[in-house]
Amino acid sequence: MPTTRDVNGALLLGGVRLIDLAFDSSISTPTYVYDVDAMAQEARELRAAFDGAPHLVAYAVKANTAGAIVRRFAAEGCGADVVSGSELRVALGCGILPEQIVFSGVAKTDDEIDRALLTGDRGIAALQIESIEEIPRVAARARAASRTARVSFRLNPAIDLDALDTHAHIATGHDEAKFGIPRADVAYALEAIAAAPNVKLVGIGAHIGSQFTTVAPYAEGARTVFAIARDVRATHALEFVDAGGGMGVDYGAGCPVRPADFVRAARAEQKAAGLADLALYIEPGRALVATHGVLLAKVIQAKATRSGAPRRWLMIDAGMNDLIRPALYQAVHRVVPLDGAAGETVPYRVVGPVCESSDDFGTHVLPATPPASVALLDAGAYGFTMASVYNGRPVPTEVFLAGGAYTVSARRAADAWVHERLAAG
Ligand SMILES: *Cc1c(COP(=O)(O)O)cnc(C)c1O
Repeated sequence: MPTTRDVNGALLLGGVRLIDLAFDSSISTPTYVYDVDAMAQEARELRAAFDGAPHLVAYAVKANTAGAIVRRFAAEGCGADVVSGSELRVALGCGILPEQIVFSGVAKTDDEIDRALLTGDRGIAALQIESIEEIPRVAARARAASRTARVSFRLNPAIDLDALDTHAHIATGHDEAKFGIPRADVAYALEAIAAAPNVKLVGIGAHIGSQFTTVAPYAEGARTVFAIARDVRATHALEFVDAGGGMGVDYGAGCPVRPADFVRAARAEQKAAGLADLALYIEPGRALVATHGVLLAKVIQAKATRSGAPRRWLMIDAGMNDLIRPALYQAVHRVVPLDGAAGETVPYRVVGPVCESSDDFGTHVLPATPPASVALLDAGAYGFTMASVYNGRPVPTEVFLAGGAYTVSARRAADAWVHERLAAG
């Protein structure tokens, strides 16, 4: 929660009074605000944990695709983990080098494979293969493009779901998940590689899920796939191992570990497996951006029952279309007033305007006299990138704080949505 408060109690992010932004006429709420300098600092801390050993911090672009942010990570020497052809274009457009990009995804289209193969002189760092069936498809596209495809195996280490210690919807490294090549099938995957002379296996890794608040599952996933990498190495010129993303952040319930602790754990496993000469890739998304972004909303009105069970709601101008994590994963984002008003507080059910019962940000203790505006904290990851226009609500504005100044993205006007819908069909 890198927001702070000034002497008057006004909420600050990156030294800027958020209440001033919420009521700035050039910025309409709901709006995301990001501290881009603090995000860059996260990247520096993470890179420092490698102590100069060969590595790649492949930022998982899907967490936050904004150009101002991806360009900053590029300037910090980060690479990218992309999951679509469009994300690949954003990463390249922001200055990330082809050899610093890995492409994950269980169902890459031929067009996406072609784009990855034809980028730069020798394609991207690796297409992360998630099924044996994908290998002949990549081989065919590489043949058609007269290129050699650089690939890595994204393995599914089949860790027990309970041991994964995160929400089931964001756990990916268990044996019922659609993600990754089952570790028991590695021999078959190697056979498919052997049958595809223009496909070169250069890496092995895993990404077992998200929002881990202990390093144990991450280390276990790394240990499992690094043991396989040690064997595969005898026959294939591996260049890297990849421990994936998933480093957790503190959404208010605490997170005793720092992202760099995951790096240290993975490095220890890498050394123990005798792979210290290979580059270590990691794929952090959330850990780089989540806590350095907030979603600002204005309060539209309160609502309270007059008879029967006492209930109070606080209706705000941000909804599940702007921030879907609570509806999708039962995620909790703290809701706090932007001003520093003191006085009596009461629990409110904070809800948005969308016509869905799940458009509900949970119960939060707020001033009995409703504040004019609130912030939903720690919304820098999987916020704007998951926004939709459901209910005819334009996607939110974004404000980028850097070097003491700020820039505002253009808001997609409600008019545009109306015209598009009228023209449909
Ligand atoms: C989403 C994703 C990540 C990033 O996960 P975080 O929990 O945000 O760190 C990394 N790798 C792959 C393959 C992903 O799909």
